[in-house]
Amino acid sequence: MTIPASLWIGAGRFAPSPSGDLHVGNLRTALLAWLFARSAGRTFLVRMEDLDRVAPGADEAQLTDLAAIGLDWDGPVRYQSERTRLYQSAIARLSAHGLTYECFCTRREIREAASAPHPDPASGFDGSYPGTCRKLSDTEIAGRRATGRPSALRLRAQVDHWTIRDELAGAVTGRVDDVVLRRNDGVAAYNLAVVVDDAAQGIDQVVRGDDLLSAAPRQAYLASLLELAPVRYAHVPLALNLAGQRLAKRDGAVTLADLRDHGRTPETVLGHLAASLGLAQPGEIVTPGGLLARFDPRLLPRGPWLVDPADL
Ligand code: GLU
Repeated sequence: MTIPASLWIGAGRFAPSPSGDLHVGNLRTALLAWLFARSAGRTFLVRMEDLDRVAPGADEAQLTDLAAIGLDWDGPVRYQSERTRLYQSAIARLSAHGLTYECFCTRREIREAASAPHPDPASGFDGSYPGTCRKLSDTEIAGRRATGRPSALRLRAQVDHWTIRDELAGAVTGRVDDVVLRRNDGVAAYNLAVVVDDAAQGIDQVVRGDDLLSAAPRQAYLASLLELAPVRYAHVPLALNLAGQRLAKRDGAVTLADLRDHGRTPETVLGHLAASLGLAQPGEIVTPGGLLARFDPRLLPRGPWLVDPADL
């Protein structure tokens, strides 16, 4: 059944990688995604991005933590590992239009260039693929295949830049390169899976950490090639440690489990997250539902959240 446009309310989502416990920065992003969605009457979905870096049991622990801070979601949690056919048919569609090519670059280059959701700008490498295999002749391809090295499949991008609109950052023009669509282990790559899933799940609003802002133009371009409806983006500031690096578990007691050991309840952690967003007074006990009336995306802090674990 097609839902009439007048009844379409859209959906937001939180899409963690189940690689370990969520830390307070991840929980803050989840809270924001929930607030963005619920304040606009959207449904809210959780999707496990388990094509890479899976730690056994991490999915359940993450869901337990989301519920512990009072977040709820609609419908079953989806797992990318169960959606292979969707990714295959999107890839087949691009291939049918001549928009893919095999890439025989080493696994390391592929990993660095395109499959990781978080390319590290500090390394001076922005994740763009230089196009090494794009112009291989049929003979060269046959030669590469004969070595037995498995190939990845890349997008033959027709543009090198694309512009998206972000609720917080405004218009953002970013690099589009020949992203990996299927890794050389045969698994769909992050950039393809995220685009296919967001559309297939009816997601029209993507709220996530601003480390993924640079990936948004290439994802939006990919969506346009697949004739999928564009999403609205809101890339929210990341949590950083006191050295200015992305917060990580090694920075101290930064997960709900660690904080519980230090006598902090999920309620106090939620209050702390809300205060960090300017949505509560320090020490105030709140619920996500109670924050909805106070939530105004225009008033969100624009800079990173500096986390001193001693203050949590
Ligand atoms: N799974 C990605 C992560 O945990 C997020 C991808 C997205 O929100 O688009 O960093």
